[in-house]
Amino acid sequence: MKLMIKQAISLVLFSLSIGIGAQDLERKIEFPDIDGFLSLKCDFHIHTVFSDGLVWPTIRIDEAVKDGLDAIALTEHIEYQPWKDDIKHEDRNRSYQIASKAAKPHDLIVIHGTEITRDLPPGHANALFVTDVNEIMHEDLLQSYRNARAQGAFIFWNHPNWNAQQKDAIPVISDIHQQLISEDLLHGIEVVNDMTFSEEALQLSIDHNLTVMGTSDIHGLVDYQYDLANGGHRPICLVFAKERSAESIKEALFAGRTVTWFENILAGKEEHLRALIIAALDFEVKGYIGDSEVLQLEIQNHSDARFLMRNISPYDFYANTDIIEILPKSKLTLQVLSTRADKTQVPLQFEILNAIKAYKSPLKIDVSLLEN
Ligand code: ZN
Repeated sequence: MKLMIKQAISLVLFSLSIGIGAQDLERKIEFPDIDGFLSLKCDFHIHTVFSDGLVWPTIRIDEAVKDGLDAIALTEHIEYQPWKDDIKHEDRNRSYQIASKAAKPHDLIVIHGTEITRDLPPGHANALFVTDVNEIMHEDLLQSYRNARAQGAFIFWNHPNWNAQQKDAIPVISDIHQQLISEDLLHGIEVVNDMTFSEEALQLSIDHNLTVMGTSDIHGLVDYQYDLANGGHRPICLVFAKERSAESIKEALFAGRTVTWFENILAGKEEHLRALIIAALDFEVKGYIGDSEVLQLEIQNHSDARFLMRNISPYDFYANTDIIEILPKSKLTLQVLSTRADKTQVPLQFEILNAIKAYKSPLKIDVSLLEN
C-alpha cells in the first residue's frame, strides 16, 4: 500500500513536469543547422503600439522567446502612426529601445528596424540594422531609402502581392523598384507575408537577385493570428548564418542565404532549400525484408515541417502510393520494390511538393540507396 501511494505521487509529479515542459517544447520552432551554417529562426516584420500594432513591445519579446526564435525586428511604420495622440513618442527608436531592454534576460537578438510606408510603387519596405529611425523620416521617398542605407540598412520590399495595393496580387517590378535595386537601396522581397505566399514574388527574387524573405507582419497576437493552440506557427525566415549574432545575420541577408517557412510551405532559392532538406531528412537503408527483393528504407524528419513527397523514379513501394507524407520530427519506413535495380544501387527520385524553389517548381532530390 505504501509503495503504491509513493508510486502514485511520483507519477503525478512526473506527468506535471512533463506536461509543462512538453507544451513549451512543442511550441518552439525547430529546424536543423545546414552544412557550414546555423539555421537561425527570425521574424523581421513586427508591429507594436508604436505604430499600428496592438501590443506593447515587451509582448513581442515574450512571443518570440516562446516560439524559440533567434532574432526579431520591430518595424514600426514611419508614416502611419494611428495611436500617436494616445502614445506620444517623439523619438521613433522607442519601440526598439523598450524591446532590446526586455530581451536582455533572454537569448534573443533584437535588430533595429523600421517600415518605410508608401503607396505602390514602391509600396512598403522594411529597413533592418538601422541606427536612428528619426533620421530616416523624409518627405522624399528616395532620400528616405538613402538615409536608411547610409546607416548600413538591409532593405526589403514588403507584401509585394498585397491585394489592397496590387489588385490582382501579382507583384510587378516597377521603374522605381528597378532604380532602388540599381542604387543598392533594395535587397530583399517578401515571398511570404502574414497569411499569404507569392510564387510570383519568389520568381522575382530569382530574376532580380533579391533575398527571399518571409515574415509575420503581426499586429495582434501571434497566438491568435496563427492558431498556436491548434498547432499553427507564425511564418519565419530561416537565415543561414556563420554565427548567432546580428552582424552574422546581416552578412547572411546580404548574401541571400534564407528560406522561408509558411504554414506547410518551404520556399527559397534552390541552393539553400536543398541544403535545408538535406539537413532535415535522413535516409537510411535497413536491408531487405527476409530473402525478398523488397528493400527497407527509413526516412527521418528532423524538422518541424511536414514533408509531402512524390516519387518520380520508376520504383514502386510495398505499402505506399507515389505520394508520401513525413510528419514533423518523425520516422517513416518505406519499402521499395527493388527488383529492377542493378545490384549496386537504387536511384530514387522525389519531388518535394511543399518545397518551392521557383515559380511552380518544387525541389527535386535524388536518393541513391547503396545496397550492402
Ligand atoms: Zn508592416
